[in-house]
Amino acid sequence: MKYVSVAIDGPAGAGKSSVSKAAAKSLGFTYIDTGAMYRAAALFAIEHGIDLKNNVQELISHLDDIKIVIKYTDEGQRIYLSGKDVSERIREEEVSVGASDVAVIPQVRTKLVELQREMAKSANVIMDGRDICEYVLPDAQVKIFLTASVDSRARRRYDELTAKGIECDFEKIKADMEYRDKNDSTRAVSPLKQAKDATLVDTTDLTFEQAVEKVKELIKNVL
Ligand code: C5P
Repeated sequence: MKYVSVAIDGPAGAGKSSVSKAAAKSLGFTYIDTGAMYRAAALFAIEHGIDLKNNVQELISHLDDIKIVIKYTDEGQRIYLSGKDVSERIREEEVSVGASDVAVIPQVRTKLVELQREMAKSANVIMDGRDICEYVLPDAQVKIFLTASVDSRARRRYDELTAKGIECDFEKIKADMEYRDKNDSTRAVSPLKQAKDATLVDTTDLTFEQAVEKVKELIKNVL
């Protein structure tokens, strides 16, 4: 049986994961959050005191020890690092920035991409990330580049954290986002950019529901 693959790329905070998750739930697809895998690899480095800015080699030498497992539950994807559920921990700002540093390492990307392609073989999937359209799933039937202005992305992230009662600073969030945008789009391996055959969905002026509808429409066209 041929499964349907939907590839969604875009910058941090554009709403990729929440939009993908909602569209997947409504269409009965499996949602695969590849960013969570880079975050888990970054958490491994943080927990082992590996300096990602100056000692990449140390992380590379531990590559086989980074054991990432994704499980699906009624509440969605849960991610395990060395057997421990780290789904919440990987959302912390320190891990977000670390993920962007880890993601420039080719050996890390090769390992995680293998896992991602394997997961897409056995289900209808919506997979989101930075390099999904062009590299991870180049044969995906639907390709989307989901983006929004940096101000609105930082604002959403700020509102999200504040709603959870987490104290944060808007300017710091915006600066971190700009750092990650620059890192992600200028790195040598799989830089973030819109694939030629991807449809642009700009969510700056869309409500969450409108963004989900737009993505669902694009998927329904191929079903
Ligand atoms: O999507 P999310 O913000 O959770 O991703 C965290 C980081 O992981 C990104 O800033 C990016 O550097 C990296 N990433 C990547 N390729 C992917 C998914 C995420 O390089 N497919």
